[in-house]
Amino acid sequence: MKNNYKTKIFISASKHWGQTKQMIAAAEEFSEASAALLRVVNEKVESFHEVIEELADAEIMCEQMRYYFSEVEIDRVKKMKLEKLAEKLGVK
Ligand SMILES: [Mg+2]
Repeated sequence: MKNNYKTKIFISASKHWGQTKQMIAAAEEFSEASAALLRVVNEKVESFHEVIEELADAEIMCEQMRYYFSEVEIDRVKKMKLEKLAEKLGVK
């Protein structure tokens, strides 16, 4: 992890709540982002700002999960998946 400020926050969150609770919180935030996106697609009232808020929450938790698991391994798999997607779409 390159960003010391974020590292400090994630270490602090882990010490304060524990990794298990943080994983549950991550799952909750991913669910909230998912629900917000579905409300937009289904044309239920959801302001743009609310979706941004939920995506920001999800991204923070995703970054935290990268820290708990393996950033190197996630980056490796992500690169492989992006290459596969690019190939499927004919993007060079
Ligand atoms: Mg949220």
